[in-house]
Amino acid sequence: MDAEHTPPLFRPTEGGYRWDGVAYQPYKQDGSAPFKDISRQTLFHDPSLGCELRYFEMDAAGYSTLERHEHTHAVMILRGHGQCMLGDRVVDVKPHDLITIPSWTWHQFRATDAEPLGFLCMVNTLRDRPALPTDEELAAMRANPDVARFLGG
Ligand code: MN
Repeated sequence: MDAEHTPPLFRPTEGGYRWDGVAYQPYKQDGSAPFKDISRQTLFHDPSLGCELRYFEMDAAGYSTLERHEHTHAVMILRGHGQCMLGDRVVDVKPHDLITIPSWTWHQFRATDAEPLGFLCMVNTLRDRPALPTDEELAAMRANPDVARFLGG
C-alpha cells in the first residue's frame, strides 16, 4: 500500500456506526435489486493483511443479497437482531454472534421489522464475484421449509 492510500492511524467513530474518513456507500437500488436498504463502509482495506473488513448495515426489514461464491466470509453481528440463512440452516442472530460462511454456501441476512441490523464482514482482498441463484436453485432452496419461511413471498 503506497503512502497516498495509507489511512490515518486513528479514525475515531462519529457515532451512529459511522467513522471519520470512511466513505459511506448506500447500495444503489431499484425495483429489481436483489437486496433492500443496505449500506456498506469499508473500514480496512490493506493488501499487506490480505483482507478487508467491511461494515454492512440494513434498515429494519432490509436484507442483503442472496448469493454464494468461492470466497469465505467471517462475520460478527454488531447491532440489531435478525436472521441469517446459511445453506440449509436459518439462525437467529444478535450482537456479537460470530458467523462463518463457507465456500459456495448460499447466504443472506435479514433484519427484523423493528430495528437495523449491522455486522462486520471480513473478506479476502482477492475474491471472486458472487453468483445469484437461478429460478431452479431458488425452487430447490424453498423445498426446505425453514428456508422457505425465511425467504418469504
Ligand atoms: Mn457474500
